[in-house]
Amino acid sequence: MHLSFADPYCPQLRSVALGAADPAEPAHDGGTMVVVEGPRFSTRAESQWYVSAGWSLINMTGHPEAVLARELALCYTPIALVTDYDAGIGGHESVDQAEVFRVFAKNVDKLRDLIGRAVAQAPADRTCGCGSVLDGIDLPFVLP
Ligand SMILES: [Zn+2]
Repeated sequence: MHLSFADPYCPQLRSVALGAADPAEPAHDGGTMVVVEGPRFSTRAESQWYVSAGWSLINMTGHPEAVLARELALCYTPIALVTDYDAGIGGHESVDQAEVFRVFAKNVDKLRDLIGRAVAQAPADRTCGCGSVLDGIDLPFVLP
């Protein structure tokens, strides 16, 4: 099965997530995520390559999450809790796991609150096309 993946995220859910952001800590909309196999940190050379390619966020789970969501006709949008700059980018040196965990722990309640607000604000009816991506495709199973 090959589904359109040119725009991997749901525009409606993305809008909801952005609207659920705390005004005191506004969300950053946009950018391009590069997904790497992990868990691991990038090499300095990889970090420089990512920046030169215009990629702004490194992630280890965006694939296959987005693909699986599309194949299940689910609305999907990433919400990233950024823990660090990559090695050697913007004058920042590499980080270690302890620092990443410290930053994550400091911000995880904010992330949890944002997700809670987004879920509460998500409309019951979808106006996006996510639910119809499988229309006309014969599946070997039945989606609920
Ligand atoms: Zn959608």
